[in-house]
Amino acid sequence: MLYDLVLRGGRVINPAQNINGVHDVAIKDGRIAAVLPSIAPSSAKETVDVAGKLVLPGLIDTHGHVFEYVTGRFGLEADLCGVRSGVTTIVDQGGPSCMTLPAFRAHVVETKQTRALAFLSAYLVGGMEGHYYPSLYKPDCVDVEATVKSALENRDIVKGIKAHAELGGFARWGIEVIKLAAEIGKRANLPLYIHFGQLWGLPESGANGVDPDTILDQVVPLLRPGDVLAHPFTRHPGGFVNREGKVHPIVKEALARGLKTDVGHGSHFSYRMARIALDAGIVPDTLGADMHGYNTRVPKPKGTPDAHPDKEHMFFGQTRFSLVSAMTSMLALGLTIEQIVPMVTTHPATMLGMENELGSLKPGREADVSVLHDERGSWTLQDNERTKLRTDRMLRPYFCLRAGKRHDSDASILPPLAVAA
Ligand SMILES: [Zn+2]
Repeated sequence: MLYDLVLRGGRVINPAQNINGVHDVAIKDGRIAAVLPSIAPSSAKETVDVAGKLVLPGLIDTHGHVFEYVTGRFGLEADLCGVRSGVTTIVDQGGPSCMTLPAFRAHVVETKQTRALAFLSAYLVGGMEGHYYPSLYKPDCVDVEATVKSALENRDIVKGIKAHAELGGFARWGIEVIKLAAEIGKRANLPLYIHFGQLWGLPESGANGVDPDTILDQVVPLLRPGDVLAHPFTRHPGGFVNREGKVHPIVKEALARGLKTDVGHGSHFSYRMARIALDAGIVPDTLGADMHGYNTRVPKPKGTPDAHPDKEHMFFGQTRFSLVSAMTSMLALGLTIEQIVPMVTTHPATMLGMENELGSLKPGREADVSVLHDERGSWTLQDNERTKLRTDRMLRPYFCLRAGKRHDSDASILPPLAVAA
C-alpha cells in the first residue's frame, strides 16, 4: 500500500498552495503524502469519505488558556479545546511565565496530544486566575532579564510575549509595564501580543485621569512590525473603537507599519464593534478563540478563589464554544471562508515564525489536518451585549489528524447543533 489513509472527496482549502476545491488528501507515516484531485482508494490501507466537509490544514488557535491547574480556575485542559475540538495547535497567551514555564513544558507540551506553544507572560507570575489580582502585575513584578533568558532558552515552545495595555493597569502604574514588555519582545526578538480593552478592575481612586482612548496612542509607538494588537472587537473601553464609535485613527497607521491584529474572540467580543471595525476596513490577521475557565463550561477545581464572577459566557448564556464557533461568527459577519481559513492556518503559522512547519497541507509536512462539518440552515447568534446576528452557515469540527493520528471532535464544551440553532 502506498498510503496509510486517504481523506476522500472533501473540499480542501489550503491557502499556502492555492488549493480550493474538491481534492483527496493522502497520509503516510504521519505526514502528508499527496493532495490531488483524485487518489485511487486501492492505494490506501484506509479511506474516509469526507464529501461535503471542509478539509483544512490543522487549525491553529492563537489565543488559548491551557495551563491547567497552575493558573487556577483559568486554564482549560489543552486537548479539550485542542484536538478534541478539531484544533491541532494551541498557543497559550500568557499563562506560563519565566518561573512556571518548566511546568508548562512538562505537564502540557509533553503530555497533551495537541501541539501546545506559548506566548510567555511578561509578568513573573504569569496569568494566574485570569489576572483577577491586579497587584501581581505591577512594574515591580516584571523581570526583563529572567524573562528574556527563559524565552531564549525555550525557543522551541516560546513564540512570543504577552502583556496587557488596559485601563486598570494604566490607572495604577501608567505605561511602565508595557515599556518593560516591549523591551522583552525586542531583546528576545519575539512578537509582543498586547491585550486591549479594560480587563482589570479600577483602583479605589478610579481611573486617575487616564483617558482609555489615549492608551493605543501611547502603546503603538513602542511596538515593532509583527507585534499583535489583540481584541479589535472588544466592547470594553480602550479598544479599537473609541467613545465616539469610530475606529481609532492610529490603528490604520499601525497596520500600515506591519503590526498585526488577532480577534481573540472570547467573551468581550461584540458584533456591534466588529461591524464598525470591519466597515472601516480592519480585517484581522488571526482569529484566536480566547476560551478559559470562566467562559467555558468546565468543573471548578475544589477550594479555588470564587471572587471572579462566573458570568463571562462566550455568547450570552452560552458556555459551549470552540475555535470553529469563532469561525462561524466571522462568516456571520460577512467574511468569506477564503478570508477566514488563513486566519487559522497560514497567518498564525507566520505569527509563530513556523510557516515552514505549520499551516499548510504541503506534502512532507506533519499530517495536521482539520475536517469540519459545513452545515446550511438558519441560526441566530447572540453576543454578550445581546446583539443578535443571523447566519445561514454553521461550521462544526468533525475530526482532526494530529501528525496523522485521528481525534474525533467529542469535547464536552462543543455546542450541539440543536442548541446553536
Ligand atoms: Zn485571553
